[in-house]
Amino acid sequence: MRNRLEIQEITRTFEDGGIERKILDKLNLEVAEGELVAVMGPSGSGKSTFLSIAGALLEPTSGDVLLDGGSIIGKNKQELSELRLRKIGFIFQSANLIPYLKVEEQLVLVAKLAGMNKTEAAKRAKELLDKMGLSHRLTAYPQKLSGGERQRVAIARALMNDPAVLFADEPTASLDASRGFDVVSMIAKQVKHQQKSGVIVTHDDRVLSLCDRVLFLEGGKLVQK
Ligand code: ADP
Ligand code: MG
Repeated sequence: MRNRLEIQEITRTFEDGGIERKILDKLNLEVAEGELVAVMGPSGSGKSTFLSIAGALLEPTSGDVLLDGGSIIGKNKQELSELRLRKIGFIFQSANLIPYLKVEEQLVLVAKLAGMNKTEAAKRAKELLDKMGLSHRLTAYPQKLSGGERQRVAIARALMNDPAVLFADEPTASLDASRGFDVVSMIAKQVKHQQKSGVIVTHDDRVLSLCDRVLFLEGGKLVQK
């Protein structure tokens, strides 16, 4: 089995009032295709920093990230945004939908940025939204959707360009327990069926049964307990 995501000896420091604080300290992680890993840890332990680096949103101080075997280090800004568009799907705590676009348009937009033609993009958007149980919401604006529906649109959007890796940063934080479980079920199913690697940061014990491994961010490293 190949690892679609490999994180090698990632260190990240931040300067805080003239003092260097090491948030991540030679952190390692390999996630195989079809595998969903949960990351837990107290607030401030560096979970979002770790996810941002793994998702090529933030540069590490040292170390490397491999997506489908290719390193992200040394790439310029344009190459990185290209990589994020094609290889990475991100789901955040709040869905971050664009208020003036209809549900289907949210998805078509990211496909267009990646160069997919309009007909193909519209077809794929419909298929994904159907899988997320949102066929009846194609032409709705985000403001009309429930929190759970918004997160499902965000998942569909993250999958639109068929990324290698799916990252989710506390995707259930704004949802009630049963909606939260549904949202993570959908993430888990896509990771399994589409042979992606998935990493989900969560505080929610109830969704851990949907994950293959649970790791804790402690002392700048990921540890299994
Ligand atoms: P978590 O997601 O686990 O709550 P974060 O990764 O957001 O933790 O933050 C970890 C630590 O790094 C916190 O102490 C935070 O203040 C610090 N930090 C995060 N981003 C920055 C930044 N851009 N500049 C300085 N400090 C930061
Ligand atoms: Mg965080």
